[in-house]
Amino acid sequence: MPGLLLANVAVLLTFDGEDRELQNVDVRVADGRISEIGDLEPQATETVIDCSRLLVMPGLVNAHQHLYQVGLRCIPDLERILLQEWLKGLGQLCMQWWRDGHFTPETIATMARAGMVESLLCGVTTVADQHYYYPGGVTEPYLEAIISEAQAVGIRLNAGRGTMTYPRSEGGEGPDDACQSVDEVLRHSLELIDAYHDPDPLGKIRIDLAPCGPHVDRLEVFSSFAEIAAENPGVGLHTHLYEGVDTQFCRRRYGRSPWQVIGEAGWHNDRVWLAHMVDCPRGEIPSYAAAGVGLVHLVAPDLRMGFRPAPVRAWLNGGCTVGFGTTGSASNDGCNQMGDLRLAALTHRQHSPQPENWLSARELLAMSTRGSARCLSRPALGTITPGAGADLAAWDITTVDRVGVHDPVVGLVLTGLSDRADLVIAAGEVVVQDGRCVSVDEDEVAAAARATLPPAP
Ligand SMILES: [Zn+2]
Repeated sequence: MPGLLLANVAVLLTFDGEDRELQNVDVRVADGRISEIGDLEPQATETVIDCSRLLVMPGLVNAHQHLYQVGLRCIPDLERILLQEWLKGLGQLCMQWWRDGHFTPETIATMARAGMVESLLCGVTTVADQHYYYPGGVTEPYLEAIISEAQAVGIRLNAGRGTMTYPRSEGGEGPDDACQSVDEVLRHSLELIDAYHDPDPLGKIRIDLAPCGPHVDRLEVFSSFAEIAAENPGVGLHTHLYEGVDTQFCRRRYGRSPWQVIGEAGWHNDRVWLAHMVDCPRGEIPSYAAAGVGLVHLVAPDLRMGFRPAPVRAWLNGGCTVGFGTTGSASNDGCNQMGDLRLAALTHRQHSPQPENWLSARELLAMSTRGSARCLSRPALGTITPGAGADLAAWDITTVDRVGVHDPVVGLVLTGLSDRADLVIAAGEVVVQDGRCVSVDEDEVAAAARATLPPAP
């Protein structure tokens, strides 16, 4: 792999141990890693990229995504609807597509490819996908297809084997027509780990075990997954928790909170990261920090479902590991993590009269890089420091929409006509240059997705 020299970087956000912010500095990339930062001479074999107009930072890490949902944006019947009904409506639509022969690995691959390209274009270099929908309870190679697309597009992927195993007819809240047996999800999960999981801290593909949630999954799945993760380095554990639909179920079914329920299944440890957490009890926050679990803030879908934003300031004050993500496009309508940072920066102000409780641009960028990387147990990502993975995203800070900005870091979050990154490097390869995807043709990707999209409901 030829080396790269990012020359004369206007502003470099490192998110290293000291959160250094450097000006007019060079960054060398070699063998897929950051090798040097400083005043560097170009070497004959390396490509020099002029970064004198760019703010360069670690590539964003999206810690919670459902890429198959790219084909399910802005469904009219699901635009203004509460979460319980939204989940039912989404499930019915997936089943309709499946019965009509449209919910296939090929369709999912095309949608995932579009979502990955959209993610790269807003600076995301690692995405944690959770694929949990298996219509008819049939294991088709949906996740395998998503993995193949990540390899083609050049994005790092944490591929989460999602599950729904506790159908309504047996006392759970999972849809009967899309639940699978525990034996089947364990069999397929082990097969995926054998075939694809790379335990290297900089592995491009990792497998995680990701039940949809304690209201739609049997506890046996959580405990079996915890055992498998313990035996397989780098395999993470991920689920939805406290998303407004699991709390009452856990109280009724188990007489415990969702957090207590997953704890009994071996999920109170640093292999675990949890999505949403909108109605988590404040009194549990110290135990989240003590357990070392990661918490993912998903501001856009939480707002779209009418929830108050999750208590992110309390998590940070409590010493929790906090990451950021978008979730799937059915409840976000996009994969634009940078745009969601702006939403978070503004929305949290409505929920505290004390400005010191509002989330700053730097805090949100740190959550979206180093924080999300920690959630995924990938400490060599989300930071620009020698030895770290060469995942970088850069924005032009000299454009007309950024005239007058006195702090370019705040400006990155609060200004901008577009969230398109100017330059993105993933695993040492340039994947976006001059604001266009260069690893694949983004126009062809969009056209293929449109051509594959099933008819509107
Ligand atoms: Zn989700």
